[in-house]
Amino acid sequence: MTTTRRSAAPRLTHTADELRRYLDEARRSGASVGLVPTMGALHEGHLSLVDACRRDCGLSVVTVFVNPAQFGPGEDFTEYPRSLETDLKLLAGRGADVVFAPEAAAMYGAEHATYVEVGGPALPFEGEFRPHHFRGVATVVLKLFHLVRPDRAYFGRKDFQQSLVVRRMVADLDLPIEIVICPIVRDPDGLAMSSRNAYLSDGERRRALAISRSLRRARQLVAEGTRDARAILAEMRELLRAAELKIDYLAICNPDTLEPAERVEGPAVALVAARVAATRLIDNELLDPTAGADVAKPRITRG
Ligand code: AMP
Repeated sequence: MTTTRRSAAPRLTHTADELRRYLDEARRSGASVGLVPTMGALHEGHLSLVDACRRDCGLSVVTVFVNPAQFGPGEDFTEYPRSLETDLKLLAGRGADVVFAPEAAAMYGAEHATYVEVGGPALPFEGEFRPHHFRGVATVVLKLFHLVRPDRAYFGRKDFQQSLVVRRMVADLDLPIEIVICPIVRDPDGLAMSSRNAYLSDGERRRALAISRSLRRARQLVAEGTRDARAILAEMRELLRAAELKIDYLAICNPDTLEPAERVEGPAVALVAARVAATRLIDNELLDPTAGADVAKPRITRG
């Protein structure tokens, strides 16, 4: 185990054996274990999950692994930002206990041939645009669940569909893990934090703001009494088109089933995936017609 001063830096391990040994030891002392799976290049969105994990659990484990299985051919696996040194400093600042950063070859041996296929919520939207994405996500999350055996695991609502896919898998496979979904953390200008925001030039970033603007507009329309999903989507589409974003999908759905909603009479979620030049961004917003007009106010850092 590579260990520096425990109070300042998390324990860093690269191997499953070492991780298991350490966690078995910690579990014997009765600590509950929380897991925060990430692909690194950490920002406040990730760190908010670490904060929540530390609040709830005796021991917080953060994984940093750019999972090749969830990237399709031609996607950004190679360019995906990697910054373990900086990540470790950020995690030390937030008091994470353990960081597991395995090599890809250790997670997927040469003979690896087993994948987890979730149906239902994994099929539409991201499932259509990134056909093997959720298979890769579900496979790595299940592997991490087995390695860490957490009591709770923390995910961000930023990846709304992913949170449903993980919940579905946990229910279907009877995993004794509580899934905690944390709010979206946004930059002060409204852009949802994402490791991929690093790809954006200043101009692209300004255009990307149309995504959060369109979601705020959707909340505002619902708060003002608009119920027709088509009318809301038309305004959103207009804002995205004005910024010359290429829309992969734009939808208002039931937040549990992802069935498209015709009217927003109960809780709903607006989902957007759009491309700004070569960068693909996703974002979402919960819509609640019972929440009253104050929901339409822009919320700056947390969504
Ligand atoms: P990633 O490193 O992109 O795989 O993300 C790891 C976890 O952080 C996932 O559960 C994401 O949903 C979550 N996450 C990423 N960005 C944000 C954000 N802006 N706010 C809250 N959670 C986030």
